[in-house]
Amino acid sequence: MHCPFCGTLDTKVIDSRLVAEGASVRRRRECTDCKERFTTFETAELIMPRVIKTDGTREPFNEDKLRNGLLRALEKRPVSLEMMEQAINNVKSSLRATGEREVTSQAIGALVMENLKAIDKVAYIRFASVYRAFDDIREFGEEIARLND
Ligand SMILES: [Zn+2]
Repeated sequence: MHCPFCGTLDTKVIDSRLVAEGASVRRRRECTDCKERFTTFETAELIMPRVIKTDGTREPFNEDKLRNGLLRALEKRPVSLEMMEQAINNVKSSLRATGEREVTSQAIGALVMENLKAIDKVAYIRFASVYRAFDDIREFGEEIARLND
């Protein structure tokens, strides 16, 4: 690829390694001309199913939206960004694994909760309450009580 600094046509790869548990490749490149170094990431572009919202309308899967929901739930919690990104990847691969062209937003919410439950119980409860995943307040209370087991 072209050098982003001087625009020369040729840059060489000086280091290449797998990151995000093999989901992407990180490459260090060096410009053959100006010798500046930079990093590129390569990830597979895979088609995500569309999302069926609760009102029945459809929208494209939005990773930023998912990330924002997780960031809110994990605010001030002892969870690294890397763990959060891993959870996002888990959710995405589970969604692709369904083989469905459309998935409900509730199904996505359930996957997020499943992942959060394994990472951080407080974030899990926060997420569940925001998305009103509990049918009533008693179920919510029971879920909290179960966390102390
Ligand atoms: Zn250059």
